[in-house]
Amino acid sequence: MRLMNYDKVYSALAKYATGIDALHIIPVPDLSGPLEHTIGALSKGLIPAHYRWTEEKTKRAYSFKGYREWARSIIVAAKYYYTDEEYPDERGYIRSTPTAVSSPGHKIPRELSTKGTGRPYGRIARFTWRNNYRYLYGKLWELVAGLEGELGISLRAKVLSNYTSIPEKILFAFSGLAALGKNCVLICREMGSYFVVGEVLTDLRIDFTGSRFEELNVPREPEFTSCGDCTRCIDACPTGALIEQGTLDINRCFQYLSENVIPVPQIYRPIWKNRLYGCSTCIDVCPYNSRLESNAEKHFVGYVGTGEDLIDLLSYSHNQWDERFRDNQLIIRDRLAIVQNALLCLGNCPHEGALPLLETWLSHTSPVIRASAAWALGRMDTGASRRALERRLHDEGDAYVRDEIGRIL
Ligand code: SF4
Ligand code: SF4
Repeated sequence: MRLMNYDKVYSALAKYATGIDALHIIPVPDLSGPLEHTIGALSKGLIPAHYRWTEEKTKRAYSFKGYREWARSIIVAAKYYYTDEEYPDERGYIRSTPTAVSSPGHKIPRELSTKGTGRPYGRIARFTWRNNYRYLYGKLWELVAGLEGELGISLRAKVLSNYTSIPEKILFAFSGLAALGKNCVLICREMGSYFVVGEVLTDLRIDFTGSRFEELNVPREPEFTSCGDCTRCIDACPTGALIEQGTLDINRCFQYLSENVIPVPQIYRPIWKNRLYGCSTCIDVCPYNSRLESNAEKHFVGYVGTGEDLIDLLSYSHNQWDERFRDNQLIIRDRLAIVQNALLCLGNCPHEGALPLLETWLSHTSPVIRASAAWALGRMDTGASRRALERRLHDEGDAYVRDEIGRIL
């Protein structure tokens, strides 16, 4: 591949960036500084063992193992997702339904309720309302095709988005388009933190001489130049998971807990509220996100909306589940993790209509699910819910679940 001029490549990129909200091209960087920081977090136990994220895997990711042999430059890109759709409250009040835009190959969702249903709802974190990663992935392949045509070359390219085997966030920060905040999330002036990122690793050889990338030098530790004295995210985190600026104890983070079938500690359950999936409190309180235009494209790639009727969700067959979440990133999560979240939501907004369902989940094969159903029944606190718990206790053989029920009765 011949050496290309940076300005020429950048203007070709800009020409084919339809649907992409921020874009840059950078050399494949040396990430030894951030690598050291991440290995430090691993050694302090801030990254749970459940992730099976070892020092060796970290080193492979930060050295672009499998890519460095041929990749010469990386296109980094972002998709903004802040729209004016609103979260449901605990009783199912969804105030707005997005206006349809064409998204070939993706279904237009069923109509959402526009008035309170009185049934309990769980909220889905904003970044999961639609699959922006998949959307960006498609746009990046279109960008590669455009670039090849414009420059008259054939590229070796690997497109990634929401990919854990390279440090996507750090790469984006390296591009200079955003900085890491004290909440460990990327921040930029135009999009706040409401954007997802993707990359294209390419064999494009670019002469960066005279461009600002000659000067780039990734800091050894994250720098929080955007934050100043602000500590709003640290103060607002419901579990104190942001133990200091830029240091997250993942074990305590609701985002992590909502993705996995692991017991949620008793003290966190009442403050879990109606989080059906994810938690973005530390993003939502950030001043960089308070004055943004809510004008992101409302596409329907993997669209699931802002929340879900909890009773419906807990009644879905496997087929209904697949149909509901197909194409959304939620489909890659263990269904039982989302079921546990729904049970905790029901514990925080009890509804008598949920009793038969809770009894069904109280007999599930997973002790974590049985314990969560027991907690939800305990919060319902009616004669019928207590009788259901007594019946379960009679048959229950698992010490953890027996303890859970014993605490309630
Ligand atoms: S996602 Fe929620 S629990 Fe996790 S650090 Fe942010 S505010 Fe805390
Ligand atoms: S809330 Fe404040 S401290 Fe936290 S990321 Fe935003 S600006 Fe930084």
